[in-house]
Amino acid sequence: MDLYEYEARDLLAGHGVPVARGAVAATPAEAEAVTRGIGGPVVVKAQVKTGGRGKAGGVRMATTPAEARAHATAILGMDIKGHHVHRVLVAAAAEIQQEFYVSFLLDRAERRFLALASAEGGMEIEELSRERPDALAKVAIDPATGVDADVARAIVAAARLPESAAGVLVKLWDAFVSADATLVEVNPLAQLADGSIVALDGKITLDGNAGFRHPDHAAFAADPGRDPREVEAEAKGLNYVKLDGQVGVIGNGAGLVMSTLDVVAEAGRRHGGVAPANFLDIGGGANAQVMADGLGIIIDDPAVRSVFVNVFGGITACDQVASGIVDALRILGPDASKPLVVRLDGNNVDAGRAILAEAAHPLVTMIDTMDAAADRAADLANAGA
Ligand code: ADP
Ligand code: MG
Repeated sequence: MDLYEYEARDLLAGHGVPVARGAVAATPAEAEAVTRGIGGPVVVKAQVKTGGRGKAGGVRMATTPAEARAHATAILGMDIKGHHVHRVLVAAAAEIQQEFYVSFLLDRAERRFLALASAEGGMEIEELSRERPDALAKVAIDPATGVDADVARAIVAAARLPESAAGVLVKLWDAFVSADATLVEVNPLAQLADGSIVALDGKITLDGNAGFRHPDHAAFAADPGRDPREVEAEAKGLNYVKLDGQVGVIGNGAGLVMSTLDVVAEAGRRHGGVAPANFLDIGGGANAQVMADGLGIIIDDPAVRSVFVNVFGGITACDQVASGIVDALRILGPDASKPLVVRLDGNNVDAGRAILAEAAHPLVTMIDTMDAAADRAADLANAGA
């Protein structure tokens, strides 16, 4: 889970990392009030989970509360790389002398952590590593030792950062480990006119699998920028991810759903360029209510034009799943308004198919193989355009 800058800033500050004074605002009036509280020049910063906000016009300097209000009016509601701006961070403007880059991340390939640091901060890391690879120091971190004062000094030396940055690196590492993050990136880490080191932008990715250790992290999931269907699915305990296409996909088991996405994407290329509209894994014991919940969320998506239900019967046999589909359609009633292509296979498949044939729901087409079913679902989505 990625955090907003203002959330990352709070988390880092909680571990003693110096940050600019400020607060988040959801309206121009709030931005004005925060600026008045700060009592000096501020930057008004779009809160979206993507980089390059500065270049997109989402970071603006203001010298008075009225100017901050005007900037907030312009920035709130902006679209930055497809992300809608719901809030701004109003932070005290820092007198920057120099900007640095620093991050800690999980290096999966090497099975350890990695520090990246550069004395040439400000630009995005992809750009930096492409254009100035020599300027980017990479220091492997032994997970057993972490970043103590010695390791921090080694990073500072490798990247040619000011020595005073070492103490901040230790605190950033402390935040990284304590929060179970897989990424903490500060760009820029700035040296100010008075010599102090301050984190002026922060990006943090938390490891969702460690969420059980951090009840306080649940608050980060409450996010007005999140897809409402994802929020609803999470509340119902479904594994749902919204994608960009038109063919709804439901399956049991993450592996089956992922291969279904591949097959639908492939079929979609033959049928007018349609694509999967979502990932939805209803899991092993899919009863009628779970099927109804899943179908409901997918059918309700205005982008969806057809649904492919791909189930491989295991412990929960095909006849139970088929009954679940029939019951789900009954529960949804007239809301079940889009064509469904159902492919059942596995344990008790004949009984399952018989149940669907018997029900003969006008919106349901049964197809025996995954490829042919994907082809039909893509065709129906294309025809429904
Ligand atoms: P992004 O990386 O999304 O463009 P940043 O938060 O890094 O957004 O802001 C872009 C630039 O704006 C920074 O590199 C820095 O020069 C400037 N900036 C950001 N925060 C402040 C601040 N509090 N005071 C002064 N300048 C800032
Ligand atoms: Mg930045």
